[in-house]
Amino acid sequence: MTETVETRRFEAEVQQVLHLVVHSLYSHKEIFLRELVSNASDACDKLRFESIANPDLAREGGDLAIDVTFDRGAGTLSVADNGIGMSRDEVIDHLGTIARSGTRRFLETLSGDARRDTQLIGQFGVGFYSAFIVAGRVTVETRRADAAAAEGVRWESDGSDGYTIASIERSTRGTTVTLHLKDDEREFLDGWRLRELIHKYSEHIAFPIRMSVEKDGKATAELEVVNQAKALWTRPRSEVADEDYKAFYRQVSGDFREPLTWSHNRVEGKQSYTTLLYLPSQPAFDAMFSNRDERHGLKLYIRRVFVLDAAEQLLPAYLRFVRGVVDSDDLPLNVSRELLQENRLVSQIRGGIVKRVLDMLEKVKADKPDDYATFWKSFGNTLKEGIAEDTGNRERIARLLRFASTSQVDGTQSTSLDDYVARMREGQEAIYYLTADGYTAAAGSPQLESLKSRGVEVLLLHDRIDEWMTGYLHEYAGKSLRNIAKGELELGALGDSADAAKDTEAGEASKELIERLRTLLGDRVSDVRVSRRLTESPACVVTAEHDMALHMQRLLREAGHELPTSANVLEINPAHPLLTTLGDTLDDARAADLAAVLLDQAIIAGGGVLDDPADFVRRLNRLLLPSS
Ligand code: ADP
Ligand code: MG
Repeated sequence: MTETVETRRFEAEVQQVLHLVVHSLYSHKEIFLRELVSNASDACDKLRFESIANPDLAREGGDLAIDVTFDRGAGTLSVADNGIGMSRDEVIDHLGTIARSGTRRFLETLSGDARRDTQLIGQFGVGFYSAFIVAGRVTVETRRADAAAAEGVRWESDGSDGYTIASIERSTRGTTVTLHLKDDEREFLDGWRLRELIHKYSEHIAFPIRMSVEKDGKATAELEVVNQAKALWTRPRSEVADEDYKAFYRQVSGDFREPLTWSHNRVEGKQSYTTLLYLPSQPAFDAMFSNRDERHGLKLYIRRVFVLDAAEQLLPAYLRFVRGVVDSDDLPLNVSRELLQENRLVSQIRGGIVKRVLDMLEKVKADKPDDYATFWKSFGNTLKEGIAEDTGNRERIARLLRFASTSQVDGTQSTSLDDYVARMREGQEAIYYLTADGYTAAAGSPQLESLKSRGVEVLLLHDRIDEWMTGYLHEYAGKSLRNIAKGELELGALGDSADAAKDTEAGEASKELIERLRTLLGDRVSDVRVSRRLTESPACVVTAEHDMALHMQRLLREAGHELPTSANVLEINPAHPLLTTLGDTLDDARAADLAAVLLDQAIIAGGGVLDDPADFVRRLNRLLLPSS
């Protein structure tokens, strides 16, 4: 039989990935071994899974294992598995193109910042190409488990612009990846060095990784297992060291950093399952994508067999940062994604996971406030989605929230609702808050003035999601939450008894001024009234109780949404010199300028945007010049 060797070019994107991987990862070059072992392990997982439906696949070819061997004379290092293997088409697809969307997006977001990219790479299925960091040439020989011996495939490339592919005889199923090491990478032709790397990166791979036993510095034919080769979560908690948990986290999450915490539990009862859940300390790369349908990081095993990444089925979206494994004793092995969606056992497991994660968060919050602050910075906004999504746990989630507040001057989000309630003034009935686009805008808002002067704390909610979230959070610990920039500001017992009298008095005294403003501003406002909110600023704009805050209206308009114009009320501080000036101005044109500028600046301070900024500038400039 004459062997036909076909030469093909890589997709342009493969070349980019190769280039990036080889150049930016050089300082972490040893990760190639982790990547190849992880691919071999995935292949073994797939074989085990497919052989449930088709037992013939695993009938021959021995127990699943991964062999790492080297040949000093030839300068080669091989990683071989007896997993699922690849057909010719699969080889072309998987090793010559970048078909998967995750990788595509990875490319789009390349930062050129090599250090960051290093952390991302393991998570993005560009793993195989890391072989070219240390190898001048890579040979892959493979045969799919369901194919005949004559249907083997050899793929070979020097990692520059293409590869060759040929048909071969291969007596065994699975894949052998052989690296022809570059001359200065011969350090990897060393049994100790390789054992050390396997221990560091692949200790918790659930299949045996085997290496040759060496005698007198020479490899023998005898193989020994060099990792634990046992699913970590099946071991009792007391036998697993923290270091093992951390190493396993790196393996499941692809994250090099330490997890914030973890929780390992075995549930026995109506159904039995094990969960090992991790909270990361910082967002993984995929969390940066807003597409919530592409979640991974929570692996579903059924009786030790890896079935699928099932984060979507096992975690609500607001907990999508959680990583780990779930191993069920009771689910049928032939589950599909669709079946998982409706399965009653799955929804129980999901409920159990939510409870565990909230427990973990409460524990970190109580025991390690600094760690909780780190978590909050990374994932606080994600967790807030739970207020809307998970009505059943709303109160528990609300207890985990953190806000900036007028009681802190540093702008950190470190006040909890419980802290706030504990500090509430005598007679205070509501939890007051303000939403704004950014901390500075919130902290400087005129709306805060009178509450501040009375020593009443206000929460400063300045993330974009806050306005949406507060639409679902009306109450906490029996206290209602009140946005101080909306509707009438009810101070209840907080206002002194003279307030009401003062209000009417001020209203009377300002009657004429208010009438004048109503006329001058026309339908730009739905009403003008004396404010209880202001002590220093001349005016502020108040939206109706159920209208969106001004900054939110602006953001939505900028994003192209059509919104009805909201009925804004202009509230004034009649004691302010600008208003007394207005009252004293006889010239109607000048009064109109003053009134318009008053409203415009109140809109700006409230985070809104002016419909006619040029008009504002013209009027302001006229006012800046001495009146004639
Ligand atoms: P990822 O593992 O994230 O999918 P890789 O670049 O590491 O990305 O591998 C690309 C693909 O090549 C894998 O998804 C798999 O389909 C295939 N592959 C790589 N190594 C093996 C192997 N040892 N056995 C079977 N398939 C493999
Ligand atoms: Mg891989």
